[in-house]
Amino acid sequence: MPELPEVETIVRGLRTVLPGHTIVSVRLGKTDFIEEPLALAELLPGRRIETVERLGKFIRLQLNAGSAAKSPDRPINLLVHLGMTGWLGVRRPEDPVAPHTHVFFELEDGRELRYTDIRRFGQMRMVAGDQIDAFRDSLGQEPLEISAGEFHKRLAGRRARIKALLLDQRVFRGIGNIYADESLWQARIHPARLAARLHSTELGRLRQAIRRVLQHAIADRGSSIATFVDAEGQPGEYQQRHRAYGREGKPCFRCGAKIRRAIVAGRSSYFCPHCQTAPRRARASGKAEARV
Ligand SMILES: [Zn+2]
Repeated sequence: MPELPEVETIVRGLRTVLPGHTIVSVRLGKTDFIEEPLALAELLPGRRIETVERLGKFIRLQLNAGSAAKSPDRPINLLVHLGMTGWLGVRRPEDPVAPHTHVFFELEDGRELRYTDIRRFGQMRMVAGDQIDAFRDSLGQEPLEISAGEFHKRLAGRRARIKALLLDQRVFRGIGNIYADESLWQARIHPARLAARLHSTELGRLRQAIRRVLQHAIADRGSSIATFVDAEGQPGEYQQRHRAYGREGKPCFRCGAKIRRAIVAGRSSYFCPHCQTAPRRARASGKAEARV
């Protein structure tokens, strides 16, 4: 499913083709993932797309006030979350329409911004221009920008498993299962460790690992595990660099031990039982949650 690097990859693709273009009409298929679909279809035509950026796992299209729009004095933002299987990209009208394409934004030059989503766990909503800061603040810290001090403050002393905290979007924006496991492997930290028990050197290592993993994944245009393709329809390549995620039973790239899988924080978690030492108490009681 798309995490920060995949969403960033889509955003970078859209940024090269959308800004300066105006939405002239909106056609909707299934709308159960859209907040206020009628308002969306009514308010977006006539507005120009100013910028495209990523807010956590949301794609933000900043739209101007619009001359033909119903409320021409109010800039708005279209926010799109890709959920599990969402895709947003620009196509020419004669290009074949992919199955499960539910939204078409027709642009003034005839091209279409299309939203496709097989499982419809995505989200689409509008946020008023003056509400976007509050929305951004609700999302947690951007892991590529967070300072060492802020990183420590958010994790130190927390009585929760480090994997659960990495996945919590109120703590950090955009990290999901793949990049949590990859970062923990790089930092040599077991996913079931309690954040409160991590030493400050381990937290420092983890912050660096997250940054490195996300930056490399963005450079490789994300991981294509199930359906992900970029805004131009090309798969990413970072899945070839995975060191932990999806590698159960395969040798650890560092020590050769077999990568294991366990359920931590309700999610399949991949780790090296040798490089990433399990928390002591969990090991003694043999809890399934931290099986090693
Ligand atoms: Zn290892």
